[in-house]
Amino acid sequence: MTDASRQVPQTTNNAGVPVESDEHSLTVGSNGPVLLQDHYLIEKMAQFNRERVPERVVHAKGSGAYGIFEVTNDVSQFTKADLFQPGRRTEMLARFSTVAGEQGSPDTWRDPRGFALKFYTEHGNYDMVGNNTPIFFVRDPIKFQDFIRSQKRTLDSAVRDHDMQWDFWTLSPESAHMVTWLMGDRGIPKTYRNMNGYSSHTYMWINAGGEKFWVKYHFKTDQGIDFLTQDEADELAGSDGDLHRRDLFESIKRGDHPSWTLKVQVMPFDDAPDYRFNPFDLTKVWPHGDYPLIDVGRMTLNKNPEDFFVHIEQAAFEPSNMVPGIGPSPDKMLLGRLFSYPDTHRYRIGPNYAQLPPNRAHSAVNSYAKDGPMRYEPANIARPYAPNSYGGPSAPVQESVDPAGWQTAGEMVREAYKPHREDDDFGQAGTQVRQVLDDAARERLVSNISGHLLDGVSRPVLDRALQYWRNVDKALGDKVAARVNGAGK
Ligand code: NDP
Repeated sequence: MTDASRQVPQTTNNAGVPVESDEHSLTVGSNGPVLLQDHYLIEKMAQFNRERVPERVVHAKGSGAYGIFEVTNDVSQFTKADLFQPGRRTEMLARFSTVAGEQGSPDTWRDPRGFALKFYTEHGNYDMVGNNTPIFFVRDPIKFQDFIRSQKRTLDSAVRDHDMQWDFWTLSPESAHMVTWLMGDRGIPKTYRNMNGYSSHTYMWINAGGEKFWVKYHFKTDQGIDFLTQDEADELAGSDGDLHRRDLFESIKRGDHPSWTLKVQVMPFDDAPDYRFNPFDLTKVWPHGDYPLIDVGRMTLNKNPEDFFVHIEQAAFEPSNMVPGIGPSPDKMLLGRLFSYPDTHRYRIGPNYAQLPPNRAHSAVNSYAKDGPMRYEPANIARPYAPNSYGGPSAPVQESVDPAGWQTAGEMVREAYKPHREDDDFGQAGTQVRQVLDDAARERLVSNISGHLLDGVSRPVLDRALQYWRNVDKALGDKVAARVNGAGK
């Protein structure tokens, strides 16, 4: 039905029934009481009260778009995964985000950025829930909740507090590599288009012959790395809080489609036990000199969501979505996330989140899941149990099922990873400071660290922080100390 005079559709209620007015509720006389029978008014008020789902506890503020992933090189000797086979093109969804800030927080706060991808493959969804950093602050999932709370808000005043952040970091020296990264130029990307994405975790790849490899993903921005200085970011946080969200949307809208080139580092399966670093430690990289980057393909984002809430707010990425040819590694953080991501989606948007448009597999779903809130796809299972005699799906143990595991044995323990020869908390951070950064970047690092420390960090946390930076690099730590200790004089 249309309003013929204005050529626009007639407003209806949620059941499609034409409504009488967009502007006036139903009353007895113009000064009279509002009537309960004005169902449309009641529907509008009730719907409005329910517009929100809980925001993500981490990565609450994000932006995203759909795109395509194209394979440009042959890596089939390492994995049989459908999406990585030569010439394959796979539809995908990406969501970029800040980590600690809430939904309304500015895009330019210093923070790592989430880099979450969903590939709609022929064997179901493959998700990679990465960051713009190849490493992370902690290596054991039992510390994750404490880490995030230290970066968020105090119990009493509910303000963000640098003292909490440095208290946690300096008591958790494994954070040093990531904090070096965060305090450097990469800690505030210029736009989402100007940052790399990394799997950070190590995954397993399995080829058609059943051979296994360890792999790390690097999505290198084709737009070039670029960053904001602290001063630029501080100003933009006040004047344009949605800068990165708008930039991504506008760029795709004008046809300037951002792309990233996927490269991987591949480690032969048997290298892991004797490698110089623990290859599964999320606070470490594999130096490129040891495992060079191998080209795989390119992802291009070319389609904005027509409804942000439907496609991006409800997008549910989960590293547990792995397809044949890809498996987990003994990275403890990854293993923890395999549980926590789907769990948060069930809480946040309900148990049938996999049926929503951004999460729905593009291949057949023959799951025995049924019922539950907001379910709308009928179950495709003949009988609601397995096995059954009526043609329901069956999952016999097949030769083709991935042996996506590794051998392990031993007592049950609560202890750190068995160290490898060169494992320590400060070594790779020091390498970054001394060998990767140039003088100007090192100077900005000193300035960013000391500015952060001078903003509310008290002794003894402050003393520990100065020692922390001397452990990363003596010269860097001395410069930070001189800046911090000289500030009050
Ligand atoms: P390389 O010299 O081979 O690689 C150094 C890498 O550092 C570059 O390839 C680039 O990776 C990245 N980089 C460049 N500028 C910066 C910056 N300002 N802040 C952070 N990273 C930057 O050395 P190694 O592989 O031996 O690694 C040395 C150190 O470099 C590591 O300890 C780590 O801190 C850092 N690094 C290593 C990476 C790896 O996977 N090996 C990846 C990124 C950093 P990219 O193009 O991916 O940005």
